[in-house]
Amino acid sequence: MTKIIGLIGGMSWESSAQYYRIINQEMRERLGGVHSARSLMFSVDFGEIEKLQHKGDWATLTAEMIDAAQRLERGGADFLLICTNTMHRMADEVAERISIPLLHIADPTAEEIKAAGYERVGLLGTAFTMEQDFYKGRLTDKYGLNVLVPNDADRAVVHDIIYRELVAGQVLSTSRAAYRDIIARLVERGAQAIILGCTEIMLLVQPEDSSVPLFDTTTLHAKAAVERALGNGG
Ligand code: GLU
Repeated sequence: MTKIIGLIGGMSWESSAQYYRIINQEMRERLGGVHSARSLMFSVDFGEIEKLQHKGDWATLTAEMIDAAQRLERGGADFLLICTNTMHRMADEVAERISIPLLHIADPTAEEIKAAGYERVGLLGTAFTMEQDFYKGRLTDKYGLNVLVPNDADRAVVHDIIYRELVAGQVLSTSRAAYRDIIARLVERGAQAIILGCTEIMLLVQPEDSSVPLFDTTTLHAKAAVERALGNGG
């Protein structure tokens, strides 16, 4: 039997639905027939989470992520995924409070980028992910990547489109055009690849929107979960 994947979802559910789809599709491809993944998801109310994020109340958010992780562990999950990049801000604190492994979203992403031979990558995500050190720092310190983020004005656009549209299920062509321009400016500055470092961006941006390869954290994280559920990759 495969390992049970524990998923902290709901941040937003638009991307959790993608995790669920990708994990099950991948498991069916790997095992054939009508096989699917054994998984548990604890899904939060993103309305509450988003308010606390913008208030900067990371202590309450950390407590909520630890609570969600412990519920999944008690439910029988063999390992855990936090299905958002932003909420990896407290990944270390969560990992310390559970006894099952946490599969960090930045790790499969960075491993794939390194395997493809890229060093200088552009990062798109929420302002928290693009501006704070918890994510860029891991890419730099653990993997030696050189991480570029958009300029101030472009970061605000990327952030606002995530919180005003994508998490609410709105996918607009005007926003796709804005992301295309922002990606092009990162490429002009030397980005060899782009990390879609927010789990909803893949709903908006596709490979044809970029002249360099895109590394989608939702897909890479979900596929890494399947690998581990099959007993590979740690
Ligand atoms: N899903 C997004 C991410 O990957 C943003 C939502 C959140 O703040 O968790 O960062």
